[in-house]
Amino acid sequence: MDLQTIALHSGYEKDSQGTMAVPIYQTTAYEFRDVEHAANLFALKELGNIYTRLNNPTTDVFEKRFAEVEGGEAAIATASGMSAIFFAIVNAAEAGDNIICAKQLYGGSLTLSAHTLKRFGIEARFFDVQNPQEIQKLIDDKSKVIFFESLTNPSIDVADIEAITDIANQHNILTIVDNTVATPVICQPFDYGVDITVHSASKYTTGQGLAIGGIIVERKNLIEKLKNNPRYTHFNTPDASYHGLIYTEVGLPPFTLRARLSLLRDLGAVVSPFNSWLFIQGLETLSLRMKEHSKNAYMLAEFLESHPKVTKVNYPGLKSNTNYKNAQKYFKNGLSSGLLSFEVKNLQEAEKIVNATKLYSLVVNIGDSKSIITHPASTTHQQLSHEELIACGVPEGLIRISCGLESSKDLIEDLKQALEV
Ligand code: PLP
Repeated sequence: MDLQTIALHSGYEKDSQGTMAVPIYQTTAYEFRDVEHAANLFALKELGNIYTRLNNPTTDVFEKRFAEVEGGEAAIATASGMSAIFFAIVNAAEAGDNIICAKQLYGGSLTLSAHTLKRFGIEARFFDVQNPQEIQKLIDDKSKVIFFESLTNPSIDVADIEAITDIANQHNILTIVDNTVATPVICQPFDYGVDITVHSASKYTTGQGLAIGGIIVERKNLIEKLKNNPRYTHFNTPDASYHGLIYTEVGLPPFTLRARLSLLRDLGAVVSPFNSWLFIQGLETLSLRMKEHSKNAYMLAEFLESHPKVTKVNYPGLKSNTNYKNAQKYFKNGLSSGLLSFEVKNLQEAEKIVNATKLYSLVVNIGDSKSIITHPASTTHQQLSHEELIACGVPEGLIRISCGLESSKDLIEDLKQALEV
């Protein structure tokens, strides 16, 4: 079935009321039929609802639907994109282990990897996503994860996914890809050997900037990689916290099972049923919206490329862009998402342009239906020196745009007048 059909129908069996819209099961807990039923649910002899921190029927539809849209086997939703990333990493790695991360990551993922995980005893080692061969020398027997973004935020690079999964598979290491910016509509990382994907559902999934949430998706047959893999003994030995359960012997997708039974149970970063419902609404139109976001971004990028005040445009859909080749290989239907950036000569020029736009909101978010403009050097990256800004690909004159769903004509007109102020 086509992705757009799956996004409308998958994962939902109409209940006795025949409701077309998925109901919001706004509840904390569920009644057991009797003591035996309760015991069976806890022992996984029967699957069913126990408590909304573990599962919820509305969230269940979101998880099943998203997993299918992404081409995976199972998914687990979380309270935010950051908790999805944290859970995915610590489901594979523990104190004493290391993870290998792209340098070009969303800022929150960078601080999580470099600082917060360090306090948990997990070391992050970094490679340049433009040079996957750097990964080889970073791997040792304590390496548990290779983590990167398919389309990076904010640097707007496209990862050579197969080059990375080839290296990971030589060493039997799990790959985790943040597919937030590309979305499953544009990129299907599992087709290129990725094991786990994570998303901030707060971006294109909700699509209108309505709610915070995240999701982890496990590829089909991941069990074959995890079973008896000496890197992941915790998936192959009894879990004392769950009466000796061995995750690879239950017959359910093991990565999401462990994330749910161990991490969601104990850390509790659960999504609310209402937010799951919003994400279900967003999924219904995701593929339609991604086409429009991409079309608008492409037209804006072309306009900017021809403007004399603009020194550089970063958009992988442009032939002149260094990521064009990877975008052609990994992105579907000629789409490149809604994120682009451009450079003008200095900080003052960039500030003038951002302040002069009327249609673009100055906001630190992406993936909204309303267009967003940001100036990283004065906001998300303001602590960095001039040299550090250059090193991480965020010069003072860089402006980032998350292209919304307004008419491309109006978006171009507004930017044009701002460039002329
Ligand atoms: N991943 C990417 C690529 C992001 O851009 C963001 C947020 O901007 C996140 C993850 C974190 O998501 P959330 O804000 O839902 O925690």
